[in-house]
Amino acid sequence: MAIAATPITRGKGLLDLLRQTVPPQERAVELYRRLLAINSLSNSMNSARDVEHLQSFLVSYFQECFPDDQVRLCIVDEANYRKSRLSGPAVSKEEETSLLDSGIAGSVIRSAAPLWIPDTHPLKKQRKSPEFAGDAPWRSIMVFPFTAMGKVVGCIEMISNRPNRFDEIEYHLGSLVAAHLSSSLDNVLTKQQLATANARLKDHDQRLTQLNERLQELAHTDECTGLFNKRRLFERLEMEIARSRRYGEIFSCLMIDIDDFKKINDTYGHQAGDEVLRQTGALLRRALRVTDFVARYGGEEFTVILPRTNSSGASRVAENLLSTFSSHEFIIDAHRVSFTISIGVACCTTFVCIDAREIILRADSALYRAKRSGKNRSCFTDGNDTECEDVRILSNL
Ligand code: GH3
Ligand code: MG
Ligand code: MG
Repeated sequence: MAIAATPITRGKGLLDLLRQTVPPQERAVELYRRLLAINSLSNSMNSARDVEHLQSFLVSYFQECFPDDQVRLCIVDEANYRKSRLSGPAVSKEEETSLLDSGIAGSVIRSAAPLWIPDTHPLKKQRKSPEFAGDAPWRSIMVFPFTAMGKVVGCIEMISNRPNRFDEIEYHLGSLVAAHLSSSLDNVLTKQQLATANARLKDHDQRLTQLNERLQELAHTDECTGLFNKRRLFERLEMEIARSRRYGEIFSCLMIDIDDFKKINDTYGHQAGDEVLRQTGALLRRALRVTDFVARYGGEEFTVILPRTNSSGASRVAENLLSTFSSHEFIIDAHRVSFTISIGVACCTTFVCIDAREIILRADSALYRAKRSGKNRSCFTDGNDTECEDVRILSNL
């Protein structure tokens, strides 16, 4: 479509124009009012949340300043542009959606250049373009494209039934409104992009936290039994030692080893052996308090920390465990499997809490004594490692 818009005085801004023309007082007052309205529109649009919000400010502005004219907002939607009313009569169903390559609005959007036709009458007569061939009653038109993020995304179409309704000053004011709209759209879209990016970042952050927690869990868990692993055991021991030093609290540590576990492996296979380890972990957990700490030390060895438990308390717990295991029948691959355990007990008072390694060493040496003394029993070390006595020998009961 080739529409010859009336040329705008080149290089002249609104100020030059006003200086040059000196509008009559009435027009000057009207202009002042319009500039105030544009200023207020621009301020409102700067605070807009979304496109609908922007549109509501445009409606207020155009209904106040152009109540008798038809003003439409055309927004590009893929291959179409959609018109909605800013002022004047409602947009009819037929003109609501038009193809981008048709109509005056489409032509302005495609060319990205504003259009101003003070009077369409001569063009209609000359039938210069199909847009002016119809019987449309409108006589003057101004169309301003606007952009979002540097791309033309629509236009404001202003139509009047009166010829020469819009002059060069109106053209400048209309361009100003379109420029404000473009920068407000940039603002809104940037805010929306930022909000989306922030939400995505928050989501990533949450997933990362969950992954980290899972990783931490894995780093502290024994895969086979689901109990805590040796790394976590040592951390917990250091914590108990610190508590013991700070508050003078006593705690005890049990080193537990399955008796003749090799035979179970040899008889039922290593997978059955693994199942025995799993069930042993579960039985230990069931037999102990929730506040007790159970870890798989390695192989068929388990470590238990008994917080706030002195040597006699620890001995009672060890006795209980010996009894629980010796009387328990494990069902492994339809086989009934029984076995006993041996336990080394170390009680940590504030005087012997040197470090975690030391406590394990003491419990381990007590366990060694229990094994050497015939298994299925517990041996106790008081921390000075001077004595070791059987707490109970169940096989002798
Ligand atoms: P003791 O009564 O003196 O403790 O004898 P034991 O047979 O229990 O001890 P020993 O140290 O002779 O053998 C331990 C066995 O445990 C040898 C090893 O193959 C097995 N073992 C270690 N870790 C695992 C495991 O994760 N799964 C299985 N199935 N077996 C394991
Ligand atoms: Mg063993
Ligand atoms: Mg062992």
